[in-house]
Amino acid sequence: MVAIELFRGDITQLKVDAIVNAANNSLLGGGGVDGAIHKAAGPGLLLECKTLGGCPTGDAKLTSGYNLLAKWVIHTVGPVWNGGLNNEPSLLRSCYASCLRIADEFKIKSIAFPNISTGVYGFPKQLAAEIALDEIHACLKNPGQIRKVIFALFDNENFSIYNKLINCG
Ligand code: ADP
Repeated sequence: MVAIELFRGDITQLKVDAIVNAANNSLLGGGGVDGAIHKAAGPGLLLECKTLGGCPTGDAKLTSGYNLLAKWVIHTVGPVWNGGLNNEPSLLRSCYASCLRIADEFKIKSIAFPNISTGVYGFPKQLAAEIALDEIHACLKNPGQIRKVIFALFDNENFSIYNKLINCG
């Protein structure tokens, strides 16, 4: 049985095996959750990211967590919302699936996700939440090592959307 939990606040404060970073294609840091994760992890994270050669949209790559409470960071690159006709939903779906695939490979038991693409990348929050929950549920039909999935909800709108979706089905 896999627990799905909501956490209201800053993902960098979570003591889990892995936190997910909503990164950009360069993996060289940015604003929003990416900036917060690099700041909390310290300079070692950027040094390791520089060795990775970037990451395609929808894919994910793993690094150590450095000064974070989390042992690992899984960096994924969400799509920029561009009206919805450029594969944005399936690319977002692929972010969640890619992260869970890596988590399984590294025997990660607890993982926390931010609301990928719903900040500066402009993905509509309600649709993003429906996709995230649907894909996580689909992947967890074969859960492998994972025991806990946490959604870290930083802004009020995402918090209220996830609460409704989780508690009202
Ligand atoms: P993207 O470029 O993928 O849109 P952003 O970082 O701009 O990434 O935003 C993604 C989500 O991360 C937003 O919903 C934002 O509220 C949230 N966020 C920003 N900072 C943090 C943080 N420290 N912990 C968790 N979530 C955060």
